[in-house]
Amino acid sequence: MSTAIVVGAGPNGLAAAITLAQAGVQVTVLEAADEIGGGTRSSEAIIPGLLHDHCSAIHPMAVGSPFLSGLPLERYGLSWRWSEVDCAHPLDDGSAGVLYRSVDQTADGLGGDGSRWRALFSGPSSKYDALSDDIMGPLLRIPSHPLTLARFGVPTVLPASTLARCFRTPEARALFGGVAAHAFRPLHHPMTSAIGLGILTAGHRHGWPVAAGGSQSIANAMASLLVDLGGKIETGVRIETASQLPPNDVTMFDLAPEAIAGILGDRLPRRVSRAYRRFRRGPGAFKVDFAVEDSVPWTNPAARHAGTVHVVGEFPELAAAERDVHAGRMPERPFVLVGQQYLADPQRSVGNVHPLWTYAHVPNGYTGDATEAIVCQIERFAPGFRERIVGYTVRSTTQMASYNLNYVGGDIMTGSKDVRRLVFGPRTTLSPYRVGIPGMFICSAATPPGPGAHGMCGANAAQLALDELR
Ligand SMILES: Cc1cc2nc3c(=O)[nH]c(=O)nc-3n(C[C@H](O)[C@H](O)[C@H](O)COP(=O)(O)OP(=O)(O)OC[C@H]3O[C@@H](n4cnc5c(N)ncnc54)[C@H](O)[C@@H]3O)c2cc1C
Repeated sequence: MSTAIVVGAGPNGLAAAITLAQAGVQVTVLEAADEIGGGTRSSEAIIPGLLHDHCSAIHPMAVGSPFLSGLPLERYGLSWRWSEVDCAHPLDDGSAGVLYRSVDQTADGLGGDGSRWRALFSGPSSKYDALSDDIMGPLLRIPSHPLTLARFGVPTVLPASTLARCFRTPEARALFGGVAAHAFRPLHHPMTSAIGLGILTAGHRHGWPVAAGGSQSIANAMASLLVDLGGKIETGVRIETASQLPPNDVTMFDLAPEAIAGILGDRLPRRVSRAYRRFRRGPGAFKVDFAVEDSVPWTNPAARHAGTVHVVGEFPELAAAERDVHAGRMPERPFVLVGQQYLADPQRSVGNVHPLWTYAHVPNGYTGDATEAIVCQIERFAPGFRERIVGYTVRSTTQMASYNLNYVGGDIMTGSKDVRRLVFGPRTTLSPYRVGIPGMFICSAATPPGPGAHGMCGANAAQLALDELR
């Protein structure tokens, strides 16, 4: 029987382990932290019983993931919950761009931009299941659905600021821009539309759900399935050198490229080592979890029902904030993402006190405290918010990096998503999952299709490993 070691029990490590175990490989997962899950961990904090997602919260890419949706994870406790409104992007005058799973419902709320929203998303979202075969893996390969991919792909090469100009209303521009800004890139850079278009198209097909009982349920379900397939998981094992790895046929690293360079040292081909050591990082995330009494008093009514609220104002202000963090400057009014998962999953609350998930985009390695900036931004669109805060906990960029070794400087994307990395992955190669040593692969969010709790990086890399074993 072939054997495999997977280093890291994030969603991609677990996906790689399941793919290998399904093929009869004897798999052991080694995880540095005391709990599995990487970016899908959740726990109680602030007050007993209040459940917070530590990292990922909203899952349009996971619910429609070709890999995860093919697993019997509901049997292992995973179920999805949707809020009434997927995402709201409030503006200072009390209006908002409002996103629903339905393209038509979204378009109907966007006034004169409704027809443009329909034109951009109706076709791709109706063909998303076919499209996802092509976009949830390396871009440079022969597509299964070339026409569908071409239709979706043309606008993805544009800077988000250019595509936003297709819309006339501040609401539509902001709604599109806020999702595009998930790329953590200056929005006038090429291909900054790509991640936003991917998330919006997936969302129009599957919605923006949360996992019942917290994102940890995703990891727990995957781990239980893995164990049923004969896999083993050891926590509290941090791999720092190759000598710690037991002899095996396949090694999968759910790690950042720099970490793999450190572990494998001189064993890596020089060109791979150089690329991994020079791996470029994106801006950081500064996270604050709140316990909030009653609800957030958003001025805009749709925001009160939205699982996600993008807090920054109109597109030009968002673009300026993203430009600043990319240049290493902390903006006075940063882009803040707010998650109200309890609306879809009320078991996370305790009585009338609710967990509120927020993070701000900040410069990589930012050493200041962004808590007040986050509170002020929310207060701007929800006057009275401050009085409803019962307690809060903070995870700075430094704490983020020690919480998860992949998030260097607070970079939760596992690397800058510039054009080169979007097209090729962590180094310039047609084989982004290979590290240049037979039997060894990188399978983290640094590889295509990139960040998210979809497990596709792990599944794709493991498939390649299986091809090699055969
Ligand atoms: C604040 C925040 C908000 C996010 N929001 C969302 C969201 O709403 N939706 C979404 O889809 N995604 C979101 N993400 C991104 C998502 O969580 C990640 O893209 C995803 O978890 C990446 O999965 P992974 O398996 O590649 O890596 P990770 O989840 O980072 O897992 C890597 C694992 O490897 C372990 N490890 C690292 N080094 C070693 C070592 N040397 N030895 C052993 N183990 C090691 C780590 O402890 C970790 O468990 C968010 C992330 C953060 C931090």
